[in-house]
Amino acid sequence: MGADPTELLRQRGLRVTAQRLAVLRAVADTPHVTADLVAESVRGEIGSISVQAVYDALGALTENGLLRRLEPAGSPARYERRVGDNHHHLVCRGCGRMVDVDCAVGEAPCLTPAEELGYEIDEAEVIYWGRCPECVEEKGTT
Ligand SMILES: [Zn+2]
Ligand SMILES: [Zn+2]
Ligand SMILES: [Zn+2]
Repeated sequence: MGADPTELLRQRGLRVTAQRLAVLRAVADTPHVTADLVAESVRGEIGSISVQAVYDALGALTENGLLRRLEPAGSPARYERRVGDNHHHLVCRGCGRMVDVDCAVGEAPCLTPAEELGYEIDEAEVIYWGRCPECVEEKGTT
């Protein structure tokens, strides 16, 4: 993960562009960031970039395993740099805050369905929904 981003792109056979590097950096700085926020931070760094170009970069980086894409219900897609470790997420129903949590099992898939129905299963997507400590506290006092 600490590897040089330029090297990471080359290893995946991706052309190294200022846009892709800036997108990678933006996601590394803010885990679980949305495309809109990535666009904002990339604009701050390298000047104007179209939203489409941001989506293209996010798509290429995700396809090549440099980013992980998450889509919790009711939220736009979010991106993160922490890939390949089968960690899961806690999402607050109150404020929408999302945090990482290690998988209690480790290896994917960490859950087994009652029947596999002939599928070769490689992952169980787990999202824990609830309320974050701040929202729990707020509710307690009102
Ligand atoms: Zn909350
Ligand atoms: Zn995460
Ligand atoms: Zn798990």
